[in-house]
Amino acid sequence: MTDKYQNFIAGAWKDAKSGETFENKNPANADEFVGVFPSSGPEDVEEAVAAARSAFDAWRKTPAPRRGEIISKAEKLLKDRKEEIARLATREMGKILTETLGDVQEGIDTAFYMASEGRRLFGQTSPSELGNKFCMSVRMPMGVAGLITPWNFPMAIPTWKMFPALICGDTVVLKPASDAPATATKLVEIMSDAGVPEGVVNIVHGSGTDVGMPMVNHPEVDVISFTGSADTGRVISVAAGRHLKRLSLEMGGKNAQIVMDDADLELAVEGATWGSFGTTGQRCTATSRLIVHRDVLDQFTQMLLAKAKAIRIGDGLKPDTDMGPLINAAALEKVERYVEIGKKEDGAELICGGSRYTDGDCAKGFFFEPTVFAGGDRNMRIAREEIFGPVVLILPVGGFEEAVDVLNATNYGLSSSIYTQDVNRAFAAIRDIECGITYINGPTIGAETHLPFGGFKNTGNGHRESGTEVLNSYSEWKSVYIDYSGKLQKAQIDTFEQ
Ligand code: NDP
Repeated sequence: MTDKYQNFIAGAWKDAKSGETFENKNPANADEFVGVFPSSGPEDVEEAVAAARSAFDAWRKTPAPRRGEIISKAEKLLKDRKEEIARLATREMGKILTETLGDVQEGIDTAFYMASEGRRLFGQTSPSELGNKFCMSVRMPMGVAGLITPWNFPMAIPTWKMFPALICGDTVVLKPASDAPATATKLVEIMSDAGVPEGVVNIVHGSGTDVGMPMVNHPEVDVISFTGSADTGRVISVAAGRHLKRLSLEMGGKNAQIVMDDADLELAVEGATWGSFGTTGQRCTATSRLIVHRDVLDQFTQMLLAKAKAIRIGDGLKPDTDMGPLINAAALEKVERYVEIGKKEDGAELICGGSRYTDGDCAKGFFFEPTVFAGGDRNMRIAREEIFGPVVLILPVGGFEEAVDVLNATNYGLSSSIYTQDVNRAFAAIRDIECGITYINGPTIGAETHLPFGGFKNTGNGHRESGTEVLNSYSEWKSVYIDYSGKLQKAQIDTFEQ
């Protein structure tokens, strides 16, 4: 069944002004269309931004706890519709149902956290250097936030951006990825049902070039929050820079798990399997390098191969499936290309998988086998570049310093992990690893919504999603000085006298 979806602008569901549409496919079965969506353009962006701008004044003046109540209602509605939305998400982007349930749960958790932030949004009070003077800092809303999101977390990532923007008092225009626009539309539907005022939340469907870039360039959009590839992030950064616009970028990763000689190997293999092949390797935090101490290399490799070969590939809605398809034909071709690159690189050997998976019904989808390379060094392309598929490389090392060195030898710095029983090494790893996230005895995936999320180096531009840190993306700080001395007091010039 192909459902029809629309844009949501100024509280009304609408087609694109051009009347054009596009369809999105089920990656597990390319013959199945999930929905038909408006193929919008700059004129639709114009209307949505105008709606968001005119709703801003009333929204910013709505007390933050009241804004939080709407998010709280959305949390309840997300809970009520969790399974229905997760099923839709699996149909449009492929990951298995337990994972899309987790994706919606992350939206629920974010709603819970951000709704209660409405009763905090803490600033600071501080002493003044002068007498009879009071100082404080308060968060101020910014205006219209343009949110550009990827397909791999079609519910979690839009909520990571939308809820903090709303709680800060901003209004939003959301542009979800064309590969997974239905799930994001459900979120907007829920926001409308939760009672969000007209124009405060808008969604415009369409491509990055026709909708995303006009949002970035629009003078009435005050902040852009983008999650996606580093290539797109660079293009957006240049455009946003021309307007001196607030920009939060969350991009790729080349995440690694270190396995030391004293690691609990069962646990390390379990973590490596989940980190590498969960979400078919299509997480920005996915494990794509396993840096393994030579003393446990053979044993670890054999144990990992056994797990990788046992992974059941198929439609994510089937209960016995462990791993779903890649998102589309282009992703399949990209992964194949990297496997070919890996095969030709000096020292790396393909030891598992490496091909499309076409058994039975899978012939109609974009499936790829769990793939493991072993050997070679940190300079290989498959050791440095993000593949975004179920491909992992095992790199042998002789000790802890070398392991950390290899881990840090990439342009990205999102997530990392070390399996060791040695607390001293664990703390040294926390100190020395150049990543925004470090797990001790856990895989590289599995972030929680109340902690900052993001990375060092080319993974981002210094901003963070989640936690209270995300509020800095959607608000300005105002410092307030209240002089109740009844006279002119000059800071740095006058001295305090009793
Ligand atoms: P893309 O960069 O291709 O797309 C992300 C979003 O940007 C989509 O909505 C896309 O629209 C839009 N877009 C594309 N081109 C432009 C443009 N020129 N101007 C404005 N918007 C544009 O990434 P993917 O969707 O392929 O997602 C995968 C990538 O995202 C991976 O590299 C992954 O690491 C990263 N990612 C990072 C996360 C993090 O938090 N660090 C989390 C999840 C993913 P459309 O596709 O509709 O054209």
